Amino acid sequence: MKVLIAVDMEGISGVTCWDHVLPGHSEYPRGRRWMTADVNAAVEGAAQAGADEIVVTDGHWDGSNILIEELDPRARLINGTPSPLSMIQGVADGVDAAVFIGYHAMAGTRNAILDHTWSSLRMHNFWLNGTLAGEIAMNAAGCGHFGVPVVAISGDQSACAEASILIPGIKTAQVKKANGRMNAECLSLQQAQQVITSAVKQGVELRSQIKPYTLPGKVTFAVEFYRSDMADWAEGLPGAKRVNARILEYTGDDIISASRAFRAMVGLTQV
Ligand SMILES: [Zn+2]
Repeated sequence: MKVLIAVDMEGISGVTCWDHVLPGHSEYPRGRRWMTADVNAAVEGAAQAGADEIVVTDGHWDGSNILIEELDPRARLINGTPSPLSMIQGVADGVDAAVFIGYHAMAGTRNAILDHTWSSLRMHNFWLNGTLAGEIAMNAAGCGHFGVPVVAISGDQSACAEASILIPGIKTAQVKKANGRMNAECLSLQQAQQVITSAVKQGVELRSQIKPYTLPGKVTFAVEFYRSDMADWAEGLPGAKRVNARILEYTGDDIISASRAFRAMVGLTQV
């Protein structure tokens, strides 16, 4: 049984500010260690549930945050950027269940550590088929495209709540309680790791009862950029439709082609 552990950084235990998650900042090396420890806790949970193949995908920033020298040897690491499936690279390769570790709530969520959708410097809002969405929905739908259920998630209370609405039965590991965007009451790392191991173990064990989150058929997304010139740049993507000064829309054949177009669109913008 094969498990994919897809990892972001804002929802990692102890993380409350950009200094913890951005390369070049003084606190970032500590954030990397915390991230690797949360990943190892998830690997332990997956192994306890019977996984004999575990792949970890580093999905934050340039995808090279997890310290491979400290990675549990039962797992393999996908790192670097870009990759065809980005934050869920690996999910198309015979995965039975996916786990999201260190995830964060969508842009505009109150009491959510570092809430954003893809880029906090570029994007204000994001919709999937007309519904406000964030990275949890986008990546869960990508997993669903390959028939893979997301069975557990770790992050703050808002990320856990966002996932629970989309995916009934998902096991949540709340490692901190956000009191705003940059303040949280955090579990100790040791405690958080126990919570993660337990949620991942339960989720993977219950994988057959948790339905893949799917967006069947053509998928339309809309992006509201922060500034109209960002939309001016992004409109260069063939197929992009201008809705108003800051909003672009695009329809793809499925969530995978829509996600690739979305990343291309954001990549065209200049901050
Ligand atoms: Zn991130």
